[in-house]
Amino acid sequence: MVRGTTRLVAILGTPIAQVKSPENFNTWFASQNQDQVLIPIDMDGQSLETFIQALRGWHNLDGCVVTVPYKQSLVPLLDSLSERAAALKSVNVIRREANGKLLGDNVDGEGFLNAARKNGFQAAGTSVLVVGAGGVGSAIAYALAAAGVARLALSDPSAERTEALANVLRTHFPSLSIERAPTSLAGLNLLVNASPVGMGGTGELPLSRELLESLSAHTWVADVVTSPEITPLLALAQSKGCAIQTGPQMARAQLGNLGAFMGVTPLDI
Ligand code: NAD
Repeated sequence: MVRGTTRLVAILGTPIAQVKSPENFNTWFASQNQDQVLIPIDMDGQSLETFIQALRGWHNLDGCVVTVPYKQSLVPLLDSLSERAAALKSVNVIRREANGKLLGDNVDGEGFLNAARKNGFQAAGTSVLVVGAGGVGSAIAYALAAAGVARLALSDPSAERTEALANVLRTHFPSLSIERAPTSLAGLNLLVNASPVGMGGTGELPLSRELLESLSAHTWVADVVTSPEITPLLALAQSKGCAIQTGPQMARAQLGNLGAFMGVTPLDI
């Protein structure tokens, strides 16, 4: 029940009806008898600046999860950013400090790594391919680089996005070997689809069938797409005997990162 004492967190985006954070966080708060709720906020872009200013004065609100389309546009409006959020120019969570200052972070990549660790994948020293150099692909590539992968290849039809991400990674991880999409998947430890390809039952694969022929059972295959849970890529990977990680597993694993940054849950929930 919401009372006068109840503390708030929020998720901000538009549209908002599709997000799962309210169920996930509120179920957890209820299970802990924690006097806290997460509310969904469907906000018009024109009101964003005014809203962010209001957050600074909102005493019983601890923070805000950020989703599309505001992950990039919020960056210049905040008071400070974590190193990775500044590098990625993207935030997916804001903490309101006691003095009203707003600090932004991006834990999309940590959520991915959290799920991968839980599934037993160790990133250090591995060779990985990240398909999709957009918001989530950039966050995952950054987290994998920070976790010490040895070789990181990028595949995205947008040369501009690929180059922009490669530049960020070169700046922050100078010893990392950054490569273009490989001509064979043999020897790869991890293949991640971080593009929307495969979403909504289209049956599409994010790489050519010819290239996917070279996928072998020792490669871990992960997808960020949440619906369907088993994407065409994951189905193909399973048929080849690969270990897989789904989009919902990544989303679930990220809850603790989001909650801990806002100061309302432990890291491991
Ligand atoms: P985005 O629009 O920022 O980036 C998508 C990128 O994919 C673009 O750079 C685009 O050029 C690229 N792309 C398109 N087709 C491609 C192809 N065939 N091969 C390689 N790259 C291709 O989108 P985003 O915010 O990064 O979101 C990507 C997906 O991640 C969405 O489906 C979103 O729902 C999902 N997502 C999942 C989670 C989770 O926790 N599981 C969290 C956030 C987002």
